[in-house]
Amino acid sequence: MGARDRIRDFFIANVGKVVTTQKIRSVGGISEYARRIRELRDEEGYQIKSHVDRADLKPGQYILETLERKPVIARAISPQLRNEILERNGFTCQLCGAGAGDPDPFNPNRKVRLHVDHIKPISQGGTDDKENLRVLCSACNQGRANVQPPSDTALNLLARIRKLPRAEQEEIFDFLKRKFHVDE
Ligand SMILES: [Zn+2]
Repeated sequence: MGARDRIRDFFIANVGKVVTTQKIRSVGGISEYARRIRELRDEEGYQIKSHVDRADLKPGQYILETLERKPVIARAISPQLRNEILERNGFTCQLCGAGAGDPDPFNPNRKVRLHVDHIKPISQGGTDDKENLRVLCSACNQGRANVQPPSDTALNLLARIRKLPRAEQEEIFDFLKRKFHVDE
């Protein structure tokens, strides 16, 4: 069990009570306890407060106010990594196939905006590894596309075709060529 786990357990066992730096340090067995507390806050959403947040706490005092965890704000990935993932995924949402610049299927007055999403959330131990990253449009990123899938308009179909593997795209291409009697 690592220092972060021990400090987390200690805070949970003392929820609602003021604990001191001294105690946290002896539980964690490390001098960089402040960094572990920051990780518990920023990466796991634990609402650990210090004298910076609460006037009734002295320097060196901490309190885990509640067992309820706040949604975690993902750390920003570097612009280079973001571009690499966008290029790898063809600037296309990996769930609904919407492409950069397409009209948003849920709000035609707006253009689709693409995000780089963590497949396994940071809050659940996900990392910034490339295999854990994918491109999502803002609708899919917020889970809306699962609630109300886009209809079969030509635009939405094109978006879906765009994210198919090349072999499937060629099959569709051949079908259309045959249908419209296009010669090679
Ligand atoms: Zn999408």
